[in-house]
Amino acid sequence: MAYSYDPQNIFARILRGEIPNNTVMETEHTLAFADIFPQAPVHVLVIPKGPYVCADHFGLAATDAEIVDFNRTIAKICAQLDLQPGEGGQGYRTISNAGDVAAQEVPHYHVHILSGRPLGRMLQPA
Ligand code: 5GP
Repeated sequence: MAYSYDPQNIFARILRGEIPNNTVMETEHTLAFADIFPQAPVHVLVIPKGPYVCADHFGLAATDAEIVDFNRTIAKICAQLDLQPGEGGQGYRTISNAGDVAAQEVPHYHVHILSGRPLGRMLQPA
């Protein structure tokens, strides 16, 4: 089944400037901004500027330049926020939800960067 991208999703509207955001970092291919409903003291959303629905769509369809830029931006945000565990930072968790089983709310690929409090184990028991 082909991926179907909804250009009216909220992150597409943020990228078009129709909805304001609290930008953390912007590059040629990537935008990072504060989550409107933070789950931790640090809660940043990182999104590609291209029309990708989820991680596997992005990984298969995006250009090498987009993929490198996206991953480098995550690393630069971790450095900017002093989160790097190898550099004395407290660490962080990245999460990317895809589809119904993961309760993905916004159908534009995004990675959550979470930190600032103990985050517990990866998943709660079902
Ligand atoms: P998902 O469940 O799709 O992985 O996460 C979507 C995230 O987008 C949620 O954490 C939610 O709080 C955030 N979000 C939804 N609408 C907006 C918005 O208009 N602005 C911002 N900054 N974040 C949003």
